[in-house]
Amino acid sequence: MLAMEHHMIELEEKEDVQPLCPHCSEPLERIWYRKLRGLLGCRFVYFCSICRKSLGVSHRKGFWMG
Ligand SMILES: [Zn+2]
Repeated sequence: MLAMEHHMIELEEKEDVQPLCPHCSEPLERIWYRKLRGLLGCRFVYFCSICRKSLGVSHRKGFWMG
């Protein structure tokens, strides 16, 4: 249980610093997304509006499915 303490990361809100795209290193002023439809429900893929590389996929199921 003591080892857990080494993994603690402080969460701090930062509204004056722009996150950078991990692919093109441009500031992410806008994130584009597309809806993905499938058997598992509705998800979204998020991507950089500058280089269009994917930043991640939401793991949330469709809101109509709960
Ligand atoms: Zn980018």
